[in-house]
Amino acid sequence: TCGFVAIVGRPNVGKSTLMNRILGQKVSITSRRPQTTRHQVMGIKTEGEAQFIYVDTPGIHILGRDRNKAINRFMNQAATQALRDVDCVVFIIDRTRWTEEDQVVLTRLEHVEAPIILAVNKVDRLEDKSTLLPWLAEVGARRDFAAIIPISAKHGTNVPELEAEVAKHL
Ligand code: GDP
Ligand code: MG
Repeated sequence: TCGFVAIVGRPNVGKSTLMNRILGQKVSITSRRPQTTRHQVMGIKTEGEAQFIYVDTPGIHILGRDRNKAINRFMNQAATQALRDVDCVVFIIDRTRWTEEDQVVLTRLEHVEAPIILAVNKVDRLEDKSTLLPWLAEVGARRDFAAIIPISAKHGTNVPELEAEVAKHL
């Protein structure tokens, strides 16, 4: 079996870090600076009989007037295209904040029929763990997610669990 998995989310949530973690190598540039990745980065992971093709989708979050800049329009189209035939989407957000850009991404996913897994990243930075559950419930109500998984892409926490969830949808 072979599956396409799109990794989506606003800049800086950790898409490239997650992709590198899953693939076990630095295929995607990570940076504190938003919008480092202008091109789609693809990586293939083979596990036994299964092949996972991961696609890091930049440009899905662009708001307002900036949407009309040629480069942004191009990135937007590429991002939308990447979502057309995926088997599964991993939507990444940051552990404590839900931003307008997150909402833009979620709206873009409106017509996606593939299951969407919500990955709540950077939980290693969470100071008060007791706030996470109620917050997850609130965010989780925004859409019917296939699963909600707190992760740390940087440290690898729960990333195998995320991959197992992805594997269910191939
Ligand atoms: P992208 O724009 O979504 O591709 O985000 P990047 O993967 O480039 O990550 C943006 C920044 O967040 C970088 O400085 C990463 O090191 C950092 N980062 C990513 N994942 C984690 C995580 O799980 N924990 C922490 N503490 N930092 C992270
Ligand atoms: Mg990136």
